[in-house]
Amino acid sequence: MRPSGLRVIFADNDVRFVLRPPPRAPLARRVTVEQIPLCDDEDRAALRKLARDVAERDIAPHAAGWDETEEFAGESLEALRRADLFTVTVGEEYGGMGMGDVEAAIVLEELARVDVSSAILAQLVFNGPPRAIEHLGNERLRRTWLPQAAAGELFCIGITEPDAGSAATSMRAHLVPEGDGWRLEAYKNYVTGGHKAVACLVWCRFPGSEAGTGKGIGAVVVDLSKPGVSVAGTHRKMGLRGCTEAELAFDGVRIDPEDVLVAGDPADNSGLKTLLAHINHERCGNAAMCVGAAQGALEYAIEYMQSRKVGSRTLAELQGLQWKIADMSVELEGARLLLQRALVLARVGGTPPALESAMAKIACNLAAKKVCDEAIQLLGGYGYSREYPVERAYRDVRGLCIGAGTVEVQRNFVGTSLLSGRNPSGDHWKASGR
Ligand SMILES: Cc1cc2nc3c(=O)[nH]c(=O)nc-3n(C[C@H](O)[C@H](O)[C@H](O)COP(=O)(O)OP(=O)(O)OC[C@H]3O[C@@H](n4cnc5c(N)ncnc54)[C@H](O)[C@@H]3O)c2cc1C
Repeated sequence: MRPSGLRVIFADNDVRFVLRPPPRAPLARRVTVEQIPLCDDEDRAALRKLARDVAERDIAPHAAGWDETEEFAGESLEALRRADLFTVTVGEEYGGMGMGDVEAAIVLEELARVDVSSAILAQLVFNGPPRAIEHLGNERLRRTWLPQAAAGELFCIGITEPDAGSAATSMRAHLVPEGDGWRLEAYKNYVTGGHKAVACLVWCRFPGSEAGTGKGIGAVVVDLSKPGVSVAGTHRKMGLRGCTEAELAFDGVRIDPEDVLVAGDPADNSGLKTLLAHINHERCGNAAMCVGAAQGALEYAIEYMQSRKVGSRTLAELQGLQWKIADMSVELEGARLLLQRALVLARVGGTPPALESAMAKIACNLAAKKVCDEAIQLLGGYGYSREYPVERAYRDVRGLCIGAGTVEVQRNFVGTSLLSGRNPSGDHWKASGR
């Protein structure tokens, strides 16, 4: 006998049983966009609405397809370009709107609410190489690359190598002197969007750098159309399947002095410290995408619970499940507030502080993992089905817990910071005499 939750379908004389969908909400529900208290003023609410409209109209209908086929989310790129959303963080003198991390996070949240792969396209521009070039680069780098960023060309970042992930100081990528410049020898193996980008920010050792240490590590901006650059492969993944990670090989690529973003000084690790501090933008963007994905999954679960009946009652009437929703929401809102603190502390033109960014990334990664996991549970068998969006959100946020510095590495930093006397809440709460 056929279980009641299944329907039978006939295809090419093949009889198969598949999950029978209950009444289903559209992939992106038309929820009114309100200002988020403490975070959005009128301008930010307008930006949120624009990003949500683009996400629901142009991205949501395709997201499951890109996930299924592992096809690059090209329509998203076009939609974000049409809406001028790539201009958000680029300075006005280079064709952008010159906004800060708060606005970047608003757009990333809204895009990730329907599709994290598409949000990553914006993340690469908002919090990737273009932001680093604007803050740390010379004027020639800015004039070359920032108008392209505002126009929606993609950029990528090459830090990770086969034997250097969390331990970036194990990297082998290095510059060999040649005339007034260098040749770059590098193999970077987990470069998001590397096969579609126009330029890559490559972390590497400068001449005289000591292997196995942070001394002499700096970064250069590489035009990916240069001779010597090749895409050695792409990764097939559990999630984030609309946005591929590439392996990039750099074989003797010419680097001119103007291509240097941060020079590595063989005497110290100041270059690496600068680069690591700047990654806080990426960490906050990663956290914002987690908030967005979790928000989408939570909304979907709530709507589902209101229509799905077990016996005579809807799931929404069952107190045990109401408590699940309460816990999911409390965790998500707590993480969102930690993220807001890091973002607000960055101020326009600045960089989010390290401790607050690390705490926000941990909280948002873990909250998103929990919320998406519980959303699957609340949908029962349908939650586990690829016909419903919550399992995709779960697979996507799983990758965000690894990229931009793993949860474990963030915990190391938070733990050692607190043990050496740092206090993210300021000193005033401490009892007198301590
Ligand atoms: C979706 C995605 C996108 C990415 N995009 C990019 C990109 O664009 N550019 C780029 O350069 N890289 C990118 N990465 C690579 C990412 O930065 C690395 O995967 C990450 O830094 C971890 O390095 P690893 O994979 O070598 O793992 P390892 O460093 O080998 O770590 C393995 C495990 O050990 C843990 N671990 C390691 N060291 C410690 C420690 N000291 N204490 C406690 N635990 C530890 C880690 O947390 C992890 O769980 C991406 C990764 C993913 C998943």
